[in-house]
Amino acid sequence: MTETTKISKYELQTMVKRILENFSIENNRVSTCCRELIPHRNSVLLCHSLSNNYSFFVNLKRCSSIWSCPVCLARVSERRRIEIETGIKNFLTSSHGPSSHGRIVHCVFTLQHHAEDSLKLSLNRLNNSFSEFCDHRQWSMAVSRFGIEGYIKSFELTKGVNGWHPHLHVAFFFDNEIKPKEVHKWMRERWISKVQSQGGLSTGLFIDFRREMNANNFSDYLTKNWNITHELTKSNSKSKSMNILIYKGFHGDNESCMSVREYIDTMRGKRMLRWSKGLKDKLGIDDKEDEAINEQETGTRDLFLLIDREEWEKIVGNELRSNILNMTKKFGLDDTKNWLHGVGIEAKRQEVLTKEEYGGL
Ligand SMILES: [Zn+2]
Repeated sequence: MTETTKISKYELQTMVKRILENFSIENNRVSTCCRELIPHRNSVLLCHSLSNNYSFFVNLKRCSSIWSCPVCLARVSERRRIEIETGIKNFLTSSHGPSSHGRIVHCVFTLQHHAEDSLKLSLNRLNNSFSEFCDHRQWSMAVSRFGIEGYIKSFELTKGVNGWHPHLHVAFFFDNEIKPKEVHKWMRERWISKVQSQGGLSTGLFIDFRREMNANNFSDYLTKNWNITHELTKSNSKSKSMNILIYKGFHGDNESCMSVREYIDTMRGKRMLRWSKGLKDKLGIDDKEDEAINEQETGTRDLFLLIDREEWEKIVGNELRSNILNMTKKFGLDDTKNWLHGVGIEAKRQEVLTKEEYGGL
């Protein structure tokens, strides 16, 4: 697999399922995710939204295991992206209060690591250093001195010849003009000392003040490809490094299999994104767990195919989920229905749905 090879999230999910099955891991929810129907449903809906040419399934169980399931990861990431975008908009466009002069700055926190370091060691060191960074009296003083309203922290992970490389993307919200050099110097020195106190080393942190966001360049932020929202969520939805490990592991590379296992074991239960205390409330964003946000069905559904349980089992058994979504996107629902008929699977084109068929919505 090269970086340009396109493998769908459903195919990756199947690869993870096989890798975990080889390790005989029990209670592995990824194995049933988007394969089994949720209770009290007798059919799966294939929906097609015409406005954005997007297709998706409804009435399926979802595992919400964001670190092991590429399908749930993509869903949760997209919903988190919308939350962040809304929060940023509310912060920068508010005409009342301090946020009318607000600034948002993107920082990347890294530390040195070695090939033999476990992911757990590097991850704990990174998280503990950041917790210390945002703690105690000096931090409270900086909050008032620089006007820090809060932050959103996101975790990104790659693996290369020097081992696991976990790092943090953090969007800091400032309630007024800032002096970049002063902020950078203070943050850099504090970060280096906090990493040292955790037994690690860091040469500093990266802050891109050229990409500072304010109310004046907010429209640029929405239209150009340098937005902070992308930086905060790309790691979760497009983790090329992890996808390559999954691909190699599935194709028999033992070291990659072990890395996938280490990654899933270490990341289990960890949150994808963390907003500093009170920031969501301040910016009018509801606080929802990954599972709750993953259950939400969003997007318009203009056209439907109804697939009964028995027919759906054939689709799962033949690993056709990804093909069906691709085909719907390229050729539409009618051609997809005909293609399914050709491979012995019947689906019904439906104009009006009952509440039960529509996923209870
Ligand atoms: Zn899942």
